[in-house]
Formats: sequence, structure tokens, C-alpha cells
Amino acid sequence: MPQRAATIVGGGIGGLAAAIALQRRGWHVEVLEKAPEFTEVGAGISLWPNALCALDALGLADTVRSLGAEEATGGVRDRKGRWLSRTDNAELARRFRYPLVVLHRAELLRALREALPSRSLKPGSEVSGVREEGGRLVVDHRSGESRADLVVAADGLRSALRRALWPAAPAPRYAGYTAWRAVTEPLAEPPSAGAVSWGRGERIGFTALPGDRMYCFATATLPEAAALGTSDHAELLRRFGGWPDPVPALLAAVPADAVLRHDLYDLPPLSTFVRGRVALLGDAAHAMTPNLGQGACQALEDAVTLAHCLDATADTDAALRSYDRLRRPRTQAITRRSARLGTVGQLAWPPAALLRDTAARLVPARATLRSMAPVFGWSPPGGHGPSTAGKSR
Ligand code: FAD
Repeated sequence: MPQRAATIVGGGIGGLAAAIALQRRGWHVEVLEKAPEFTEVGAGISLWPNALCALDALGLADTVRSLGAEEATGGVRDRKGRWLSRTDNAELARRFRYPLVVLHRAELLRALREALPSRSLKPGSEVSGVREEGGRLVVDHRSGESRADLVVAADGLRSALRRALWPAAPAPRYAGYTAWRAVTEPLAEPPSAGAVSWGRGERIGFTALPGDRMYCFATATLPEAAALGTSDHAELLRRFGGWPDPVPALLAAVPADAVLRHDLYDLPPLSTFVRGRVALLGDAAHAMTPNLGQGACQALEDAVTLAHCLDATADTDAALRSYDRLRRPRTQAITRRSARLGTVGQLAWPPAALLRDTAARLVPARATLRSMAPVFGWSPPGGHGPSTAGKSR
């Protein structure tokens, strides 16, 4: 069979992972990225066992583990710093074969890029549309046009290709709260365990990164695109500076100009991820709120599944139907679950927040872990077994 060619639109985690997965299956790939360079400011990112399993299928689990931190414990605390629930990450890794790894997003993207030949990465190539010509797809972009047998639209939450090819699809919906992310400078005594604290309409969490740095994240219920009238760092200090230790020390160790803020959205469910030979992938297909830390994890699963489906048959249309069947129900269920968790986490009415905290305290840690089995217990279609390095240690 002649080598098949895929054009991937978007050089984020989803697009790069799709390019690696397809290349490993013998496809010729190119990644069209609108940014003038493949750079990422970003902060931390949590990769749960299902993501590590997908990375293992891409041959990258070891690399990513070497770039990340694996904390022994985590959990949820109340506004006063009392534990509501604890997570034993060794138990998590035992149960789901892979650990939770937290790393800097820029490092993850670099590892993904390095798994591809640099000639296949085309920055400065914003895509404006795709059309069919003589049985092939033609992708129009800023630096010309590309011809392909398959187009993967991994162009994120505001996907231009989704808007062009799914004109009736509803726009992303605002979750009702905004998020801040930041990475501290190296700390002399980093906290020994990560945690998320639930307040009233506000949450703040932190988790370890390599190099004695901590990744901090916070949310607050606010109108969409609310202007704060102050810097993001000043706003974090105002809201969370009086929260229990170690939050004040962590915020003090965040460079004032290094706080990122994004309003949070998810995508109402699409009726299909596929139009002709164009497949949506990652946030373009199923953007979700980050309450479960699953957006990128699901993009990695998408990439591995898409490549598997295309490898299983020479009939690209049938392969894309399988991809849609395997990915849509799962990612849409996780999107809903993440939204529900966000609603609970953001509760602001004191009696409701108290009830939430009491309920969280009563649920045994094992039950919480068990309830995550449908999310964390994923394995690729075709039964790719974990490499020895991917097994829990
Ligand atoms: P994107 O990362 O959005 O990449 C899309 C790429 O396409 C971009 O590079 C963009 O420049 C490019 N592009 C856009 N339009 C065009 C065009 N027309 N032509 C060419 N290129 C184009 N997920 C986790 O798994 N764990 C976490 O801990 C986690 N934490 C998060 C915290 C926050 C606050 C947020 C907001 C999200 C978090 N996520 C997390 C979700 C995760 O960031 C996303 O799901 C993931 O980055 C999606 O990757 P993607 O490649 O699909 O899209």
C-alpha cells in the first residue's frame, strides 16, 4: 500500500501525540501550527494513569516520567486546612498500573516534539479551511496548501475547522469560574504532599514539580471575562493569602509576572467527531473543564485510538467511524463528570459547602479511587500491554 499522508492541524498536546501515533504506524505526517514558533509558556499539568498508558503506547512513558514528579500522597482539604480526603498515589499506581505524574507543560510539549522529525513541524501555518479535490483533501494555510488522505483537527477549544465543518455545533460554554496557574521558584522546603483546598466559590491547590518547584492552581466564581482591576498575582494574594499553610508561602514564591489566568469552558456534546476524512481530536472535539485533570489525558487517548483504528483497516472511512464510536461516548461522559465536580467544588452557599465537605469526609479513599476506575483504567484498543518501564514501581 502506498504511504498514506495525514495533515494535523494544531501543534498542542493532542496534535503532536496524533502525529507521533500515526508516524509510528507508517503514516507520513505534518503538523500545521498557527503560532510562529512551537513555544509554550504554560504551567504544570497532571497526567493520570490513563495518560501514562497512552504515552506508553507512543513509546514515551519513560521519558515523561523522567521529566515529572510523582508525589506519594495528595487529597482535598477544607478552607481551614483540615483533610477531607486523602489519596495514596502508590495505591493508585498499583491499581491502575501507572502513576500520577505532574510535569511542566512546556517539558511535555518538548518531549512530544522531539519524538517527531523537525521537518514535519510547520509553525506559522494557520489553517483557514479544508476542501476535497480529486479524491484527496487540500488544507489551505498561511504558508500554502497541503494535500493529505486524512486531516486531524487538533486546533483546540476554538477550533477553526470545527466551526467550518460543524457549522451547527454550539459554541463552548462558560463554566462560571476562572482559573489561575503558576509555578513557584525553587523552594528551600517544598511541602511534602500536594492538596486542593475547597472554599466557598474558590479553590486553591498545589502539587510538586521537579527541581523543588510547586505547581499552584486556583479557581474563583466570576462572570465571563471579568476585569479584575489588579494583577493576577495581586488577586491571588487578596483571595488566598490568608488561607492555611503552605498557601501563603507558595504564593509568595510565585514570580509576580508568571501567573496565567483562563476562563474555563467546555464543549457541548457533538453528534460526531468525524466529517468525511476530517477527524476532530483533543479539545477541538471535547474541551472539558480541568476539574478531573483529564483534558490532555483524553487527547492522548484519542491519538492512540485514532492510529489504532486506521491501522486496523485500509478503509479510512470505516476506521474513522470506529474512532468516533470509541471516543465520543467516553470523552463526553468525562466532560459531564468534570463539569459536575466543578459545580460541587465551586459551591458558595455556606450550608451547601458544609454538606459537601461533610460528605467528602465520609467517603472512604478506596471508594473514591474505585469510582475513578472507568477513567483511569483505560487501555488502548488492540490491547497494547505496558512496557516494563511503564509498570508501577
Ligand atoms: P490545544 O492545547 O489548545 O492546542 C491547539 C493548538 O492548535 C494550539 O497550539 C493552537 O495554537 C493551534 N491552532 C489553533 N488554531 C489553529 C489554526 N487555525 N491553524 C493551525 N493551528 C491552530 N489536562 C490534563 O490532562 N491535566 C491537567 O492537569 C490539566 N489542567 C488544566 C488546567 C487548566 C487551567 C486548563 C485550562 C486546562 C487544563 N487541562 C488539563 C486541559 C488541557 O490543557 C487541554 O485539554 C489540552 O491542552 C488540549 O490539547 P489540544 O492539543 O487538544 O489543544
